Amino acid sequence: MHSFEHDTNASRTVFGTGTLSRVGDELRRMGGRRALVLSTPGQRALAMRVAGVLGDACAGIFDGAAAHTPVEVTDAALERAQELAADSVVSVGGGSTTGLGKALAARTGLPHLVLPTTYAGSEVTSLLGETADGEKVTRTGPEILPEVVVYDVALTTTLPWPVTVTSAVNAMAHAVEALYAADRTAETDRIAVEGLGALARGLRSLQREPDDLGARDDLLYGAWLAGRCLGAVGMGLHHKLCHTLGGSFGLPHAATHTVVLPHAMAYNAPAAPEAMSTASTALGVDDAPAGLQALVARLGGPTDLRDLGFDLADVPRAAALATARPYPNPRPVDHDGIVELLTHATEGTTIRDGPSATTPVPAVTHPSEEQR
Ligand code: NAD
Repeated sequence: MHSFEHDTNASRTVFGTGTLSRVGDELRRMGGRRALVLSTPGQRALAMRVAGVLGDACAGIFDGAAAHTPVEVTDAALERAQELAADSVVSVGGGSTTGLGKALAARTGLPHLVLPTTYAGSEVTSLLGETADGEKVTRTGPEILPEVVVYDVALTTTLPWPVTVTSAVNAMAHAVEALYAADRTAETDRIAVEGLGALARGLRSLQREPDDLGARDDLLYGAWLAGRCLGAVGMGLHHKLCHTLGGSFGLPHAATHTVVLPHAMAYNAPAAPEAMSTASTALGVDDAPAGLQALVARLGGPTDLRDLGFDLADVPRAAALATARPYPNPRPVDHDGIVELLTHATEGTTIRDGPSATTPVPAVTHPSEEQR
């Protein structure tokens, strides 16, 4: 079991089991005396539990967090924060709730504490995607990074198995793309390997033993590491595809990552053989793309986009959108190749084992902010 505290210049992490009891101290430590607690409607009971732990330090609850951080929801939460004279924000939930907390903190300058309950990793990044008039715009800035993250493994035990699988593979995607990122470092490589190993181990153990708290510990620990990859380096083709499918076709975030990741890895394998070899060792499989796809299938996760509501007829438009302004990627992104990739992902084509390629293509440089 992991139990530690981690500080960087900009944000503080507390990790353990039962750490919810420390949230009052952590709030005071960052200067909060009257926190607005945020959640989705489905996690209101948990928000009330957090409010109970905070006691007088809780000014009130706003339980309207929704996917893709719609600005109308942020405006309503802002109004509530002002009515209550809140001096801090506490987000309890997945990436949707954390997104609302980030949007509120960025607008008000209030300090932000996050209690994550999924493996999305948003709590350790300076990235924020907001939706206005049906369009999702992503930005980054130091004011977006939450000041404190309190990981409590016990809060993740309620995550249903299908969401556990897709959320963990969403986290794996951050680590995999970090392994071939143009701006990767030796440190991000090590964090990615450790994260992938913990996520794969956690999923396998939890499938065998659904109440295994040690497996939940591995998953949350891996998610923290993978989130740090996402926050540290630029993401590539896989994230561009998922942003396109989520933003323009309304596909669900984590499930889309789960279907697309093995196909994006197979596309990039010829240009990133070292990254694939490192990923295969970390994941405990022979061939990274094929092995990950087989692992997802064994775990009962989604393996085709059709099941998520995507239509083969939409492939050309999605490919055009995804190739219009591609993120830096080890293998050049060409329209025909992406049509083929998306067709395979839509139909759930089985990726065959094979040696990762032979002709490395030089990485594209100049990562942009949007690519994360
Ligand atoms: P989510 O936050 O939408 O949660 C999915 C559902 O699971 C929600 O209904 C939630 O209430 C429920 N849930 C969460 N934790 C639970 C638990 N422990 N037990 C039972 N139910 C629980 O999904 P997500 O995948 O965590 O986040 C997706 C969103 O986060 C997307 O909008 C995505 O763009 C964003 N995101 C942002 C970043 C970033 O760095 N900015 C990173 C990753 C994801």
